[in-house]
Amino acid sequence: MVSEHASPLACLGGVDAGGQNVHVAALSAALVRRGHQVVVYTRREDPGAPASVRLASGVRVVHLDAGPAEVIGKDELLPFMDGFGAELARHCARWRPELVHAHFWMSGLASLRAGAGLGLPVVQTFHALGKVKRRWQGASDTSPPERIGAERLIARTADLVIATCTDEVRELRSMGLAGDRVEVVPCGVDLRLFTPAGKPSGGGRPPRLLIVGRLVPRKGVADAIAALAQVPEAELLVVGGPAADRLATDPEARRLLALAEEHRLGHRVRLLGRQPHAALAGIMHGCDLLLAVPWYEPFGITPLEAMATGLPVVATAVGGLRDTVLDGVTGRLVPARRPDLLARAVNELLADPPGRLAMGRAARDRAVTRYGWARVAEQTEDCYRAVLATRHARGALAGPAPAGRLTGQSVEVAQ
Ligand code: UDP
Repeated sequence: MVSEHASPLACLGGVDAGGQNVHVAALSAALVRRGHQVVVYTRREDPGAPASVRLASGVRVVHLDAGPAEVIGKDELLPFMDGFGAELARHCARWRPELVHAHFWMSGLASLRAGAGLGLPVVQTFHALGKVKRRWQGASDTSPPERIGAERLIARTADLVIATCTDEVRELRSMGLAGDRVEVVPCGVDLRLFTPAGKPSGGGRPPRLLIVGRLVPRKGVADAIAALAQVPEAELLVVGGPAADRLATDPEARRLLALAEEHRLGHRVRLLGRQPHAALAGIMHGCDLLLAVPWYEPFGITPLEAMATGLPVVATAVGGLRDTVLDGVTGRLVPARRPDLLARAVNELLADPPGRLAMGRAARDRAVTRYGWARVAEQTEDCYRAVLATRHARGALAGPAPAGRLTGQSVEVAQ
């Protein structure tokens, strides 16, 4: 796995640490449970971090030196990707993995570079597409101008692109990717961490709405605050952003709190800051609805996590949320950036406790049957095998993929 900016070891909830970190960590762990050896290559951000760390899951994380060993925003990382790719090639030449799975576009560039020299197949998951970000964020999109062209190149060059939702396939096709070179495999949810509450909560307190996510404008927290003005009594809890004691100096947190004051909702909006992943199920158990109301969303793991705890989700009908949330069955879908329609859907659900309970059950069922990481890993492995078989058929690999596990010589790549 190559995940240039998103390490499985990062603290979640910050501007650049969210779904990709969770995805890479959980998918890798699930593949290890299926018998594979998995190394995650990520950029060194801390001069004190060891060259290589073995996680409890059995996944090894290797820190590659590329650029200063400090936290650098992902939109500033491109100049260091040549060096990252060269380091990756050096490590792969020693370890000889059978396949490279790149996450995000810059990892794709580095992996194609390393893969080409060593004849390694490359599978690409974009997690987010530059052209979608540009469409929504316009002038405030800080991605490097090279991103959109690079994504087109990667889509055409990688052995296979894994899209996380059907909407992404449409976007990829419009970038010139042939239909037989893209497969949909969703992100997953940790079904051991996200379980239903032992007993129902809610008696005697105001209705509670929850948002979990990085504190960035496109996640729609401002729309949810505007909607809250039309939802009597309800509280809005927002998890994500910096740690709670740093919220006061965070510009986005301040903007949201000022907005809440403007709507005279200061007492009903509570920003909780980032919370440990393991604490989220407990927070969800104390709430009545999860709101996932981004302007656009490549996938959206948070709604799946809520569904797994049996919480209905009110989501905007964008990106991956259109695959995961079934309107009227596991929650409601509403148009993006329409606080009035969001408020209406929330009010209808809050007024219908039996309906909410039924939706919560259907949501849990859907999460369990389709989105556990074990299932996602199995589907991903099918993609890997197909890629290896195609390469083998073309005579580009030395031998067939052995059944049951991808072999590797050694994962001991640390200095
Ligand atoms: N997350 C967390 N603590 C926080 C905020 C977020 O553990 O304070 C996790 C959240 O549970 C989810 C991930 O970060 O697993 C966010 O993924 P999602 O796909 O919802 O959003 P992204 O970050 O990819 O935009």
